[in-house]
Amino acid sequence: MEAPVSGYSKAMETLMQNLGRLPGIGAKTAERLAYHVMRMPKAEVLALAQSVPVVAEKLGSCSRCFNISDTEPCAICADASRQADLVCVVEQPKDLVVIERTGQYRGLYHVLGGHIAPLDGMEPEHLTIDALVTRITRDGIKEVILALNPTMEGDTTAHYITRKLSGLPVQVTQIARGIPSGSPLEYASKTILTDALAGRRRVE
Ligand SMILES: [Zn+2]
Repeated sequence: MEAPVSGYSKAMETLMQNLGRLPGIGAKTAERLAYHVMRMPKAEVLALAQSVPVVAEKLGSCSRCFNISDTEPCAICADASRQADLVCVVEQPKDLVVIERTGQYRGLYHVLGGHIAPLDGMEPEHLTIDALVTRITRDGIKEVILALNPTMEGDTTAHYITRKLSGLPVQVTQIARGIPSGSPLEYASKTILTDALAGRRRVE
């Protein structure tokens, strides 16, 4: 076998190459991380390594709310103690996580998978909007809370969904604008999000 040119062993070289494929990890960082892994206790290294294939093999998206999940449906959809006729619409799973962390919301969710942005090739049909409409009619949902990012794309998406749901027997509300315009939901504090949810208004 040919020796790697870097002077590292083949194993270190492979680890650095694999780490370097992650976003935001350049060659220098990959090298530093590889050294760190080398010095980690063996049990921690194994735990780290074993968590990777679980993500690749088991994680999918919940067929009802499209949250990332390793169960079908996800734990939130399966939780009978949650209010099943209330659905909070978010752009990404990470937005669901921040709302969930407030500990104040007890309804269900619907993850759109992004926002409408025609310039980036994101059209309404690329999102789970049709599935939302189906859920509303099939599951008797009474209120849909739009918790999209306070950006132009978020607003466009909110308008589109509101139009799409008009005529359906569902109340459409929007979280209050305590969240500064342009700043993503994922960076909002618990207090701001809790207030934004509590102060939600009906969309006309
Ligand atoms: Zn779900």
